[in-house]
Amino acid sequence: MTMRRVRGLETEYGLQVRVRPLGAATPAGWRRLSSDEAAQRLFAPVVEAHAATNAWLRNGGRLYLDVGSHPEYATAECSTLAELVAQDRAGDLVLAQLAHRAQQAWAQEGLEPRISIFKNNVDSHANSYGSHENFQVSRKADLAGTVQALTPFLVTRQLLCGAGHWQRDRRGRGHFLLSQRAEHMWDPLSAATTRSRPMVNTRDEPHADAERFRRLHVIVGDSTLLDHTTLLRVGSMELALRILEAGSPCLSRGVPEPGLVIRRVAADLTGRTAVTEDGATALQVQWEWWRAAEALVDDEELRTVHELWAQVLIAVEDGAPGRIADRIDWAAKHRLLRAQRERHDMASDDPRLAQLALAWHDVIPGQGLARLAEQRGQVRRWLAPGVDERAVEEAPPTTRAALRASFITAAQQHRRGHTVDWMTLSCHDLAEGQVRVEDPLSTHDERVGELIRRMVTEPRQTSSSSFRAANPWTPSTLG
Ligand code: ATP
Ligand code: MG
Ligand code: MG
Repeated sequence: MTMRRVRGLETEYGLQVRVRPLGAATPAGWRRLSSDEAAQRLFAPVVEAHAATNAWLRNGGRLYLDVGSHPEYATAECSTLAELVAQDRAGDLVLAQLAHRAQQAWAQEGLEPRISIFKNNVDSHANSYGSHENFQVSRKADLAGTVQALTPFLVTRQLLCGAGHWQRDRRGRGHFLLSQRAEHMWDPLSAATTRSRPMVNTRDEPHADAERFRRLHVIVGDSTLLDHTTLLRVGSMELALRILEAGSPCLSRGVPEPGLVIRRVAADLTGRTAVTEDGATALQVQWEWWRAAEALVDDEELRTVHELWAQVLIAVEDGAPGRIADRIDWAAKHRLLRAQRERHDMASDDPRLAQLALAWHDVIPGQGLARLAEQRGQVRRWLAPGVDERAVEEAPPTTRAALRASFITAAQQHRRGHTVDWMTLSCHDLAEGQVRVEDPLSTHDERVGELIRRMVTEPRQTSSSSFRAANPWTPSTLG
């Protein structure tokens, strides 16, 4: 029987803010804020409410400011793919709401800001930041062996779920690549997350019973904007893990120099690049994994994933990415750039192409090109309307995130000093007010119910409270 597991996505966003005096008549006068200043302003309401640049949200997720001034949103633990796609998009909405707040604050100071929040993976200085996929896996599996076996899959999955990248060479000429992250990857496995960045990070923080579980921390992927691409990214990875867990031996083929191969695959939209020691191409490798996954599909979500996976490979095989441009990030971006080049007769060194490629990733509604393409029906949604908005307020019901969410909501309502992390819930002003929920798939826990009852009925037992604001900042309070 296949293991039910939780999965979570972390996204670091790029932030760009310019301001000018309100009502300025000329296009001049914009001042670009440093990333640090921009991030501090964006997070001002979070700091006001939580006395830190780290907040746990009522949907069970976490919002914080990482080193390097990148806002980060980590989804709550999800057990279905629909939950995960929705929780991930809720993060975009949370960031957009913060931007809206900041805009109002600047207006009160007589300034007009132009704020962009990019869900992408490289900034203008070629620094890369990440989108991390987290999968609960058994402690019994050998990590190095798992990652070695996964390597052919990891270096080729950009065909399915790369975000697309317009990269300019030294002469300023642009080239289209499948992935943004490929250029920044080195070894398949290591403890580093910055310099020699690995595809899977070995840091061992399972956020669960450490004797039984690990958290596989996959950091090779691009951030994805379109529902279907996020679904395929996480769903195909889920199937790849199941293949290994089922012990399929046929797929263990070596990839010489994975760091080089991943770059070559990124530069080849035909999928014909040789990847393995025995010369299998990127497309062949992907078809092998696709075939091995077939028997492991056991629900509707994975059936959708498996069908979409094949559609993408066939489109690549036929040299017809236009066929998947309504669902797959890189193909949609490719279509956009091609159409604009033709319409405006732009040469490959035209700087407007890089600007368009960047604007694709902006998650501010009505501003980012991916979101506009969705509004115009050029790109299909997989989630039903309103599901992502609801996910800003509601935790996934199938994991312990639901317990965390009810605890946070009660603590906020009754103004109890509290802190949480992935495993623990603590009410500071109650004696023995801490509960540890080890099983990420637990949705009912008497101890949590009891703790919430005590927060509602028992008086505070200490005067200290870390819960400062009467109206803590949460997305919903922004209206
Ligand atoms: P960093 O930002 O430094 O990489 P991190 O990866 O340790 O930090 P967070 O940013 O807090 O941690 O994100 C943790 C992610 O792990 C979340 O998306 C969460 O949903 C997910 N997660 C929580 N518990 C588990 C678990 N038991 N197994 C797998 N994933 C989990
Ligand atoms: Mg993180
Ligand atoms: Mg992480």
